[in-house]
Amino acid sequence: MSGRAQLMWDEQVTGYDFGPGHPMDPVRLALTRSLVSAFGLDRAVEVVAAKPAGESTLRLVHREDYIEAVKAASADPAAADQSYGLGTVDDPAFAGMHEVSALIAGQSVAAAEAVWRGDADHAVNFSGGLHHAMPGAASGFCIYNDASLAIARLLELGAERVAYVDVDVHHGDGVQAAFWEDPRVLTISLHEHPRTLFPQTGWPQEVGAGAGEGAAVNVALPAGTGDAGWLRAFHAVVPELVADFRPQVLVTQHGADTHFEDPLAHLAVSLDAQRAAQVACHELAHEYAGGKWVALGGGGYEVVDVVPRSWTHLVGIAAGREIEPETLVPEGWRQEVFARTRQLGPGRMTDGRWPVGWASWESGYDPADRLDQAVLATRRAVFPLRGLLA
Ligand SMILES: [Zn+2]
Repeated sequence: MSGRAQLMWDEQVTGYDFGPGHPMDPVRLALTRSLVSAFGLDRAVEVVAAKPAGESTLRLVHREDYIEAVKAASADPAAADQSYGLGTVDDPAFAGMHEVSALIAGQSVAAAEAVWRGDADHAVNFSGGLHHAMPGAASGFCIYNDASLAIARLLELGAERVAYVDVDVHHGDGVQAAFWEDPRVLTISLHEHPRTLFPQTGWPQEVGAGAGEGAAVNVALPAGTGDAGWLRAFHAVVPELVADFRPQVLVTQHGADTHFEDPLAHLAVSLDAQRAAQVACHELAHEYAGGKWVALGGGGYEVVDVVPRSWTHLVGIAAGREIEPETLVPEGWRQEVFARTRQLGPGRMTDGRWPVGWASWESGYDPADRLDQAVLATRRAVFPLRGLLA
């Protein structure tokens, strides 16, 4: 079960750099790309460097005045307009920020086009998944929302049903906002509870509005949720909704910041569970979306130990060349890690939690368990709106 896959990559995306000390260190992208090479995965996929998203594409999601503000901050970072979220602690302005943000967006838009047209079955852009950017503002390390833009481009090309599944530890608020009233886009986000994490949204009661009521789904997981709970919640919510929705394309966001080592959040998910969720998304694409799968990166701030391994697994899955968890990390890559970061890279493609056990929702739930309460809140809020039993 696999198909032709594209990896979207242009070296210039590593210019998405908010500067020293910012958690989104572009070395995460460079190290991922070189680990993909170290496993020879770049010979199992077609590597494509797409053009930057142009203005007319950016305007599918973003307001014209915001794009102008990004361009102005890009040309003169000192003049960034904070009322657009630019030049802030989370989103410092830097020279060339418009160009590189549009380049990342262009990779996701081209991924969507390739999958829609059948040039590839799967396309991966691990530099994307910048899901917090709003139509009129930068937010949460995100300037242009490449995930929303890829979905908007699919709609422009004639797609009538696109499902978006976001497993980043943070709520996929920008994508939800872009399609809040649009029944053609089903957004499902699993994330740490808004009470304890940015962006403080993603409550189960957020279900969309107007014609889009019931097309936004949020699973707010208790801080501390580990592998078994995380996968249980995923499987208690996502497959049933996707099966019922019958998307023409599945777009997924694979932020690696759910990991127990991540410095910015409080879930306790391992690399092995992240890989299991990637495999599940791949299977969902084949079962319900004719194999059409656009897979994006996202957050992830343990930039040496976690992000490169997580997204290399993702590329392997899309390429039909899954890397077994026990596999040793190539020594040459570990040397590169040390040369670049003075850190020792991980030794294997596992956290030693494989195989990850979890109990299915069908096997029963415990009303006193906080994880089960979170799942039940989501099912009760949204399943009846879609004609499904909560
Ligand atoms: Zn995140």
